[in-house]
Amino acid sequence: MLFESLTSRLQETFQKLRGKGKVTEADVKEAMREVRLALLEADVSLDVVKDFIARVRERAVGQEVLKSLTPAQQVIKIVHDELTALMGGQAAKLELAPTPPTVILMVGLQGAGKTTTTGKLARYLQKQGKKPLLVAADVYRPAAIRQLQVLGEQIAAPVFTMGEGADPVDIAKAGVEHAKGERLDVVLIDTAGRLHVNEELMDELARIRDAVQPTEILLVVDAMTGQDAVNVARTFHERLGLTGVILTKLDGDTRGGAALSVRAVTGCPIKFAGMGEKLDALEPFHPDRMASRILGMGDVLTLIEKAQAAVDAEKAAEMQQKLIRAEFTFDDFLEQLRAVRQMGPLEELLAMLPGMGQLKGMKDLKVDEKQLKRIEAIILSMTPEERANPDILNPSRKRRIAAGSGTSLQDVNRLVKQFEEMRKLFKQFGKMAKQAKKRRGFR
Ligand code: GDP
Repeated sequence: MLFESLTSRLQETFQKLRGKGKVTEADVKEAMREVRLALLEADVSLDVVKDFIARVRERAVGQEVLKSLTPAQQVIKIVHDELTALMGGQAAKLELAPTPPTVILMVGLQGAGKTTTTGKLARYLQKQGKKPLLVAADVYRPAAIRQLQVLGEQIAAPVFTMGEGADPVDIAKAGVEHAKGERLDVVLIDTAGRLHVNEELMDELARIRDAVQPTEILLVVDAMTGQDAVNVARTFHERLGLTGVILTKLDGDTRGGAALSVRAVTGCPIKFAGMGEKLDALEPFHPDRMASRILGMGDVLTLIEKAQAAVDAEKAAEMQQKLIRAEFTFDDFLEQLRAVRQMGPLEELLAMLPGMGQLKGMKDLKVDEKQLKRIEAIILSMTPEERANPDILNPSRKRRIAAGSGTSLQDVNRLVKQFEEMRKLFKQFGKMAKQAKKRRGFR
C-alpha cells in the first residue's frame, strides 16, 4: 500500500504526542527526531529532510502551539502543511496551448512507464473532451511502436507512425502537422528511452523539443526507484527544462521518497501520479491530498472524484451526503460496492479512507472478487426493510439471510459488523469535516 511504513511510523509518533496532556518543547523535539528518521527511511534525501524538520520545528515550538488546547493536533497540522508545501503546495495543472494543437513531449528512461503513461494521459484528455493524437517517436525499441498502437486502439485514439527507419525529429514534426490537418487538439509524443541517462538521448530529445516547441515536457519517472528517480529528474530538468513530472507506480509498495523529494530538489512540479497498469489509473497530483494520505488521514476527495467518474455525478453527491451523515443503508452499500468494482483495486481505495490504518474492523475489508460476490448475495437476501434499517437485524433474521444467501451466520455477522464500523467511521469523518470547516484546519 502507498507509503505504508511511512504512514504507520508517523501515526505512531503522533499517537504518542496525542497521549500527552501537556506537550513540551522536548516532546516536540522528540517527535521531530522520529519524523526525521521516518522520512529518511522512506528514502527522502537528507538535505530535504533537514530543511523540512527545521521548518516544522520552528513553527511547532512556538508558544501559541504549545499553549493551545490541542497542541498535538496543531503539530500534526503543521506537518501536514509543510508536507503539502514540500510537494509543491498547489496542484499543478496541465498547460494547454492557446491555439491547438497543444504539443506534449513525453520523456523518460526505459521501463519508467512512459508509453503506458502516454496512453493514460490521452485517455485523461479524452475524458476532458479533447481529441489527442499519439505519436510514436521511439524508433529504437520496435515493440514500442506496436505498444502505442495497441494503446491507441484500446482508447480509440489515432496513432501516428512512420516506422522504425525514420528520424525521431521528422516523426515529431510530421505528427504535429498531421494533428493540425486532422484538427486534433493535443499531440502526445512518445520518445525513446534508455536504460541510463546519456548524451545521445538528451541530444535527440533537445532536437525534438526545438523542432516542435512543446507546451509541456513531461518526465515520466518510476517512484519505486526512490532517490534515483530524483536524480534522473534533476538531470533531465537541467538538460531539457521540464515543465512537469509524472510519478508512476505509486500503487506499488514505494516508500515515498520520490514523491516527497522530486519537487523540492528539482523545483519541477509533479503533475500526475500513475496508480496502476490500467489505462484509467492516472490521477492529477494534489500535494495536500497526498500529504493527507501520508499522514493516514485518508483522501476522501480523490475517492469521491473516482466515485463520480464511476457513477453519475448527482448520485455521487447524494452518496457523499449520506456517507457524511451516516445515513446510508445496505442498498447504498451494495451500490457503492458495484461502483467501486469499476474504480480500481479495493485496497487502494480503502487506503484513501481516513484512519484506515487504525481501524480493526476495516482491515478485514480487504475484499477479493469472491468475497464481493458473497457480500452481494448476503445483501440481496435481506428484505428491503432490513436493507434500509440494519438495526432490526436480530439473530433469527441473520440466520434466515445466511440460509438464503448460501453463506454462514458468521459471514452475515461479519458483514454487519463491517458495515457498522464503516458507518461509525463516516460519522466521525462527518464531524471532523464540520470542525475543520469551522477552524478552516486540515481535512
Ligand atoms: P517505458 O519503457 O517507459 O515506455 O515503459 P512502459 O510503458 O512499457 O511500462 C513499463 C512497465 O511498467 C509496464 O509493465 C507497465 O504496465 C508498468 N507500469 C507503468 N505505469 C505503471 C503504474 O503506474 N503502476 C504500475 N503498477 N505499473 C505501471
